[in-house]
Amino acid sequence: MRRKVDYSKYIERPHPILKFKDVSEEEKEEKLRKAGDVAKKILDTLREKAKPGVKAIDLCLLADKIIKESGIKPGFPLNVSINHVAAHYTSPPDDDLVLKKGDIVKFDIGTQVDGFIADTAITVDLGNNPDLIKASKEATETAIDLIRPGTDTRNLGAIIEEIITGYGFKPVINLSGHTVERYVVHGQKAVPLTSKKGGSIVEEGDVFAIETFASTGAGEVRGDPTRINIFRASPVTPKLRSPAARKIYKIASETFEGLPFAERWLYEYLPKREIVLGMRELKRVEGIIGYNVLVELDKNALISQHEHTLIVTSEGPKITTNGKKE
Ligand code: MN
Ligand code: MN
Repeated sequence: MRRKVDYSKYIERPHPILKFKDVSEEEKEEKLRKAGDVAKKILDTLREKAKPGVKAIDLCLLADKIIKESGIKPGFPLNVSINHVAAHYTSPPDDDLVLKKGDIVKFDIGTQVDGFIADTAITVDLGNNPDLIKASKEATETAIDLIRPGTDTRNLGAIIEEIITGYGFKPVINLSGHTVERYVVHGQKAVPLTSKKGGSIVEEGDVFAIETFASTGAGEVRGDPTRINIFRASPVTPKLRSPAARKIYKIASETFEGLPFAERWLYEYLPKREIVLGMRELKRVEGIIGYNVLVELDKNALISQHEHTLIVTSEGPKITTNGKKE
């Protein structure tokens, strides 16, 4: 007989108690902006620091430090995704990855205040690819300018696709922008990067992270099964054998509040031996969910990305990650 599968653990659900509607619009905006200001500060700093010869882990630790010093919490670990790597790479402990001349480096950071998340990304060009950078920047900015209550995001996808293909590149068709819910990075609604995917209808007060990816390759990514360095606690409490696994699950669900985390963050709480043992069990019983590193089908491709988080209003978007208060 076919084994019964519990799919619920794969679904990112809104936090059971805390939702956006539980706070006023003013408080929501204030917290989103507070998170967004720190995220912007991190990207501004990384833009200056990203040079050939710099270690990826030093940039990840710098992002971790800025969040800590700001007195807020991470929404997810800094993604440092280089060249054909599109997303979900953060430095594992003892990472020896070094930025080099010619690299296209995407920095994607998540921060949060009481579950109000900022999700924003830039691309730093260590080579000479000005059009590739412009393509995703212009596509993201244009979609942001146009989003209103009632917008069918499929139309934004068509515009994004037209801009990126106009530069001679391909949008990454299996990545998309998305709504952000309280304590949930990826909500239900999507902003596709093509007209060929289904859209969603935008509503007043929705919080969207609009992001676009321009690729010199196939315009499609896949998960690399051998590389996972971002995890989150399964919303379904697992049955765990070892004290180490139980400790990590508690940290992942309480300290990290069920949001994505990097393995390196555990070193502040536990010795390496317990982390290795506990993570092994958690992966086996799916007490934690991993995010595979996403790579282009074409391993010689270069990908650029730009992203901002915003609140939808009938007068236009309030961008919460650009440091400006319109
Ligand atoms: Mn992002
Ligand atoms: Mn995003």
